[in-house]
Amino acid sequence: MESKARRERAWVSAKVEVQPHDGGQALKAVAAIAGGERLIALAHVFVDLPSKYTIQIDEHRHQAGTGEADDFMNHACDPNAAIDFVALEVIALRPIAAGELITFDYNICEWDMRAPFACVCGSPRCLGEIRGFRYLTQEQRARIEPWLSPFLRRRLAAERGREAG
Ligand SMILES: [Zn+2]
Repeated sequence: MESKARRERAWVSAKVEVQPHDGGQALKAVAAIAGGERLIALAHVFVDLPSKYTIQIDEHRHQAGTGEADDFMNHACDPNAAIDFVALEVIALRPIAAGELITFDYNICEWDMRAPFACVCGSPRCLGEIRGFRYLTQEQRARIEPWLSPFLRRRLAAERGREAG
């Protein structure tokens, strides 16, 4: 069983490493990873305001940039990892080969991103400008619904409630 104790620092699988990538650094697989495998357990360090490195947990609660592996996960529109927001863990969505970047869709947690950017993930379903869940169409929202954070689920339910009423 996972301890509920506060994690001061991230736990990182030995199968992933922060490596030089495209003029910066990015998290990559250094061994074959199975679907469902736990890759990172995020540090329980939170801030009120978003930045380029935070992960939104609630309206005014963001998992902080701590300089650890999770800060170096790139966005992809067809990603190979997602976040378990209850356990605060990064989980592989499918088998990942050594050398692949570890990616997740930033829109599963960010409502309105502090640092929007143009995505070049190359997926046929690439969204282009990544700005946060707020800016997605209904169809784009529905596609990522299984992986949404509890915070975005609540927002989506509230919006649908308004539409229905
Ligand atoms: Zn993309």
